[in-house]
Amino acid sequence: MAYQYDDTNVFARILRGEIPNKTVLETEHTLAFHDIGPQAPVHVLVIPKGRYVTFDHFAAEASEAEIADFTRTAGEVCRMLGVRPGEGGQGYRTIANAGLHGVQEVPHYHMHILGGRILGRMVARAD
Ligand code: AMP
Repeated sequence: MAYQYDDTNVFARILRGEIPNKTVLETEHTLAFHDIGPQAPVHVLVIPKGRYVTFDHFAAEASEAEIADFTRTAGEVCRMLGVRPGEGGQGYRTIANAGLHGVQEVPHYHMHILGGRILGRMVARAD
């Protein structure tokens, strides 16, 4: 299956510098920035700079360097935000929504890092 990437999505525009973001950390292949509508005291998005739609797209087609950089950057963001359990932090949750059932709004792969409060059950019933 060929993945269809939409270059007009808001994260593509952030990566092109067309709209601003509150950057937490930027590396060669990855950008982490604060979510514009935070759902917890800590709510950061980690995105690859490459044109990937979903986690599975990234996993299938990203280079080893991109995957390693993304993963290490996300971990470093957890350290920077002070949410790592055992080092004064109280923990966090990572989420990657994909497609219709995942209720993905922005079609550029991103990992949410949420923390700063007890986050409740993992999945709320939609019905
Ligand atoms: P998702 O539903 O997983 O696709 O989440 C998309 C997330 O992107 C939401 O949490 C939005 O609040 C966030 N978002 C949308 N536009 C921006 C923006 N310009 N800067 C930062 N976060 C954004």
